[in-house]
Amino acid sequence: MPETVIQLSPRLPGSAIFNATVGAGDSFVHKILKGQFVRIVDLEGNQAVDTLFYNADNYADRYSAQDTIREQANIYLTSGTKLISTERHTLLTIVADTCGRHDTLGGACSAESNMVRYSIDKRSMHACRQSFLKGALLWTDQTGLTLDKRDLTANINFFMNVPVTPEGALKFDDGVSGAGKYVELQAEMDVLIVISNCPQLNNPCNAYNPTPVQVLVWN
Ligand SMILES: [Zn+2]
Repeated sequence: MPETVIQLSPRLPGSAIFNATVGAGDSFVHKILKGQFVRIVDLEGNQAVDTLFYNADNYADRYSAQDTIREQANIYLTSGTKLISTERHTLLTIVADTCGRHDTLGGACSAESNMVRYSIDKRSMHACRQSFLKGALLWTDQTGLTLDKRDLTANINFFMNVPVTPEGALKFDDGVSGAGKYVELQAEMDVLIVISNCPQLNNPCNAYNPTPVQVLVWN
């Protein structure tokens, strides 16, 4: 297992220009301007924060897990990681991280995956795909840009622990995060952030208890 690197941020919550709490199971969409810092705080610990990023001027140019993993030659995200887009732009850089590891591989939960992983009667349970879709469909930029179902691609799971065994197997393990831990990113260009604060009730990674997160933005 690679060494966990903890990097604190010098920015204080009181000086943030934007501050929102995203309830468990809710979605959140916000535009982050080039140079701004965005922090996601795991308020109560071990919450999975499914997150997508887009070039704010062209939503077809979006976070690419494959390009990000290849460029840093590591599957986990932490301080120093540059999030690379499908058009090879650097969308954001992780500048602070008190959790130390975030998942690129696990993807988002859906009604379908809940049925396959847990049981057929989990079909009606709220899942990240629905939250992403709700956030996407309610969002319209001032310039008229909109998001669609086809824009919802492979996401980051901030604070989620999905280790890979030496044999290459994926494990969904207990979280490594805790109350108050955060990850902070600086936008390298204008970007759109879309969050599904995972409502999952069947997975030990959040102790079967989805909880709220906080989003802060600084200039
Ligand atoms: Zn989920």
